[in-house]
Amino acid sequence: MKSDTSQKLFEEACRYLVGGVNSPVRAFKSVGGTPLFITRVRGSHVYDADGNEFVDYVGSWGPAILGHASPEVVRAVYEAMKDGLSFGASTVREIELAKLVRQAFPSVELIRFVNSGTEATMSAIRAARGFTGRNKIVKFDGCYHGHADYLLVKAGSGAATLGVPDSAGVPSEFASLTLVARFNDLESVKKLLEQNKDQIAAVIVEPVVGNMGCIPPASGFLEGLSDLTRKEGALLIFDEVMTGFRVALGGAQALYKIQPDLTCLGKIIGGGLPVGAYGGRKEIMEKVAPLGPVYQAGTLSGNPLAMSAGIATLAELKKEKVYARLEEKGSFLEGGLRGIASRCGVPIQVNRVGSMFSFFFSHDPVTSADSARKCDAKRFKKLFHLLLEEGIYIAPSPFEAGFISLAHSEADLDLTLRAFEKGLTHVMS
Ligand code: PLP
Repeated sequence: MKSDTSQKLFEEACRYLVGGVNSPVRAFKSVGGTPLFITRVRGSHVYDADGNEFVDYVGSWGPAILGHASPEVVRAVYEAMKDGLSFGASTVREIELAKLVRQAFPSVELIRFVNSGTEATMSAIRAARGFTGRNKIVKFDGCYHGHADYLLVKAGSGAATLGVPDSAGVPSEFASLTLVARFNDLESVKKLLEQNKDQIAAVIVEPVVGNMGCIPPASGFLEGLSDLTRKEGALLIFDEVMTGFRVALGGAQALYKIQPDLTCLGKIIGGGLPVGAYGGRKEIMEKVAPLGPVYQAGTLSGNPLAMSAGIATLAELKKEKVYARLEEKGSFLEGGLRGIASRCGVPIQVNRVGSMFSFFFSHDPVTSADSARKCDAKRFKKLFHLLLEEGIYIAPSPFEAGFISLAHSEADLDLTLRAFEKGLTHVMS
């Protein structure tokens, strides 16, 4: 694998961009080496500046569920472009996308489009605080909800990768309003709610964690959260920025049959362009401006190109058997990985929900941030580079989920498993 051009570009990038990147995990800090400079993406493949081609499991960190640059989405954006790039005013496409979201997520009675997942969670929490008149929130160790000040507490993903669980620049007064519970541990939530009676505005959770690697909810965990929050008069916010339209058309809330009060979306609903959204029960969302006193706005919110990419993506996802096909691919990959690990005698845990998956170098099941942190990151680092050499691109961190798209072919999955087998043999030697 050649990397001279990426290396040169990275050196140049470092002279102009902070750390050479515009989002920290892209910097390969936890795996070492030079980040790939991607020049083109198509279907299940990404191509870099050195002419290398990879089967991609990063999927632009989630949005690329149809595969990269799906012709339907590209065409829709191209058509939309002819009408102009930004209106800063109401447009029919916003209604269309809102309808598509509502059909898949009945709990989202009213929605507001924003430009990123960070904006979605930040605004949902503001709405929850405005509605309940309470200030504190509960989040879970290892869950990432974007980079709003008070959410950068035990935030998994990039923060865990870089070993900075709490960010500098966040006043302790802000962080003190964020209480941290353990994922898959209802007792830890119950305790916080009891200790902070009538003070908790909301519990926010990734219903399937994707930012400590993929960690599914234990049976009864999400139901328990729903019961506990209802009894305490706190709101339940599902951060489905990653899981929305990923683990099922209706997200984790459809898969596990739980109705949260508020839902945050992003990634897939923008079809590769910058979009986020938050929405939920009408009476809560009616608190948001212009209907209510909770202020939230956006120059580019509801951008016509982003809306059209989202509409085209969701239209594809509504087609028959889409999620069955994703499940089939996921199950094939999971079975293959397990089989190889067992043949190679490597202790590996494979976690998967539909087309979202992770493998962990661990003897024990990974069910929480604590257990994810115990995994062997050195082995991951070694395997990451071996997989790259074999033409497989996974996220450059042991704390990220992998994503399979509809464009991943049998040949892609076979190649992945062969690479994995070769890599694991080396890692263990
Ligand atoms: N919430 C979750 C669950 C995420 O995975 C992410 C990003 O990865 C975010 C929120 C933040 O989204 P964005 O990066 O679009 O701000």
